Amino acid sequence: MKQKTTPLNTLHNLASSDEYIANEEIGDNHEWSNIETPMHKNAFKLNPKEKKEKIAGYFTKIMNTLGLDLTDDSLKGTPSRVAKMYVDEIFSGLLPENKPKIALFENKYSYNEMLVEKNITLYSNCEHHFVPIIGRAHIGYISSGKVIGLSKLNRIAQYFAKRPQVQERLTIQIAHELQGILETEDVAVVITAEHLCVSSRGIKDVNSSTISSFFGGKFESEQKRQEFNNYICL
Ligand SMILES: [Zn+2]
Repeated sequence: MKQKTTPLNTLHNLASSDEYIANEEIGDNHEWSNIETPMHKNAFKLNPKEKKEKIAGYFTKIMNTLGLDLTDDSLKGTPSRVAKMYVDEIFSGLLPENKPKIALFENKYSYNEMLVEKNITLYSNCEHHFVPIIGRAHIGYISSGKVIGLSKLNRIAQYFAKRPQVQERLTIQIAHELQGILETEDVAVVITAEHLCVSSRGIKDVNSSTISSFFGGKFESEQKRQEFNNYICL
């Protein structure tokens, strides 16, 4: 999973077969290009209801093309179920209005040590194969005077997970969001995850997992990094 400097959306605009192959390779190697989730300019033109209708139609075509009989009782509801799941659940983090509203509190106890919330369950999907990434996030921050409700750390992590993702971007998006909300650079995020595109297809390695990290501000020091790592016991 290495970073590629060429913006993916530039490559997507190119049409020749060579570039198509280049795009395939970028996806298979899990390279990525932007910290922001790449969205096109009409991303929010359709409302969620319209998106679900369209996706259900497209998914019907995919199932038909695969040869599945959509008059079968078990299959006929699948396109609308998938559409609802995409828009309302597993990709709901693409809609800015779904971003959790965060209230901050004064740090009344003057707790100046790092606070760590570990083992936050994450379900995401690989943006290159649209299969699950199942992981755990570990978040630490040192208060600059404000504190955040603990469950909000989970909600922020899960909001960004509910997008087609690559693990590195997910890690950075969570960290940057928390730095902004908490008004401090002193944020650490570590994610360990299993990628089903690695375990259930392709190389089919069920034992490997991927670890990504972000250490900002005071967490850049060896001592704070070590303290955080000790708390999360990786
Ligand atoms: Zn993948």
